[in-house]
Amino acid sequence: MSIPLLPSWPPSLPSEAVSYLSDQATDYALAHGIVYRPVALSPTTAPALDSAIHAPFSLLPSPFPRALFDRAQSIQPAYDLLYAQVSSDHTFLQRVIGQSVIHVDEFQKQLWDIYISVKDDLVQPLSLGLFRSDYLLHDAASEGEKGSRSGELELKQVEFNTISASFGALCTKVNGLHRHLASTTDYLGAHEQLKSLDNLPLNAAQEVLIEGLAKAHAAYNATAQAYVLFVVQEGERNAFDQRPLEHALQAQGIRVVRQTFAEIAQRMSLTGQDRKLLLAHPVLGEIEISVVYYRAGYGPSDYASAKDWETRKQLERSRAIKCPSIAVQLAGAKKVQQVLAEPDRLEPLLSTIGMENKVNEMRETFSDLYPLDTSPLGQKGYELAQTEPQNFVLKPQREGGGNNVYREDIPGFLAQLEAGEGEKGAVAKRQAYILMSLIKPPAGLGNYLVKAATKDARAGAVLAKDTVSELGVYGAVLFENGAEKVKVHHHRSGGYLLRTKGRESDEGGVAVGFSVIDSPLLI
Ligand code: ADP
Ligand code: MG
Ligand code: MG
Repeated sequence: MSIPLLPSWPPSLPSEAVSYLSDQATDYALAHGIVYRPVALSPTTAPALDSAIHAPFSLLPSPFPRALFDRAQSIQPAYDLLYAQVSSDHTFLQRVIGQSVIHVDEFQKQLWDIYISVKDDLVQPLSLGLFRSDYLLHDAASEGEKGSRSGELELKQVEFNTISASFGALCTKVNGLHRHLASTTDYLGAHEQLKSLDNLPLNAAQEVLIEGLAKAHAAYNATAQAYVLFVVQEGERNAFDQRPLEHALQAQGIRVVRQTFAEIAQRMSLTGQDRKLLLAHPVLGEIEISVVYYRAGYGPSDYASAKDWETRKQLERSRAIKCPSIAVQLAGAKKVQQVLAEPDRLEPLLSTIGMENKVNEMRETFSDLYPLDTSPLGQKGYELAQTEPQNFVLKPQREGGGNNVYREDIPGFLAQLEAGEGEKGAVAKRQAYILMSLIKPPAGLGNYLVKAATKDARAGAVLAKDTVSELGVYGAVLFENGAEKVKVHHHRSGGYLLRTKGRESDEGGVAVGFSVIDSPLLI
């Protein structure tokens, strides 16, 4: 017998009730900017700039155990400081990234080369991290018996994002949407748990991100009006997750400019001993940049040519505060996450930042993580990848979704990777990846997923009976490298992202349509 996480969930609503609620919700979404640019008409055209469709969202909030939600929030400050500390620990980065990954991963090598070339010649001691730590619920009881539940749920970290962590604004608004439906319609009496707004925690995500950017801007201490630079992708569909951050900064009197790498390349210059970052903007004139906020630059496709890499390097060399700096981006590599899970790695780092009391709590959020190198742990990982791939996911050092290899695909993928390589070459190639045990989310959840029409599907709410929700928690840290320990100038953690998808989909991209933006219903 499977014991549901929450009795009578998902509530079964008559179809008229679902239509009524989803009409209310869709208009709320459109009215409040829970929107995307529409998909481009063809792969070669840019998305239309004059219209929008609503982002996919869940009609109901999804049940999430309150204690584990609180745990994720309470561990976040330690995670933020841990990754800030890692980014300023050259010996650690050298050992983890500089000695293995970069020899077999061209993208990481490019980042690493910039890191090495700028690290001893920085004119800006401060860096800003806008982080998001992501988790899934793990049903320990499902290890043996599929679908069974014993109430033994654990919070397991999927990954820690240090660059372009998105959805802070949209998820804040989806929380508003769910609270609106709860308070104005009472969800038509769908479920007891939906009756109290106390079960729908307010989301501070957007505020945490904005405050981080504003503090960095203030710390830059410009003599004249300076601008915060949002580095964006061309044709970004998710622009309305970014614009609210800009608007909130502007409302505080902080100027903002959006530019792509290509535009920056044409317009930037570094002036003076202190390498002020200037942009010759065709409309705004010559402007000084205080903070460089990357919502692009996290993956290889953001660097179309050597020129874009040169642009990144010049930005890094400048006096502007980078969010993130190249070191902070490197610290977010999945390889770092794997190494932190090795025995005795966490303790010294946490004790440096005065968080040694968090060791156990943090370690409990780790899944089994393996390198694929010649160490005993690496050999064990390689063996597990061959003998029980059904329990694992293989991850490269990439961000943005769609890069992982799952389950039974792993052995064949590794065989292909190693084909034609001698033993030494094969081992080297494998080091571009980490192996992670699959987190097994509890059964018995479900939700109505509301998506805009596509060419294959009609608009509206569809009941997904078996869903999986991934929780993210945000943190903002403005810090500088200290002799031993990072010196923190601003730090605030909090706010969340909840993304929900049907269990059948391994990856959960919102923009690609697999998952929807959600909010937690604490139980
Ligand atoms: P990215 O940086 O590309 O987002 P992630 O590590 O978050 O990479 O993996 C992408 C998605 O794959 C996650 O959102 C989650 O749905 C799934 N995933 C990743 N790791 C695991 C895991 N250990 N167990 C189950 N699902 C996972
Ligand atoms: Mg990521
Ligand atoms: Mg992810």
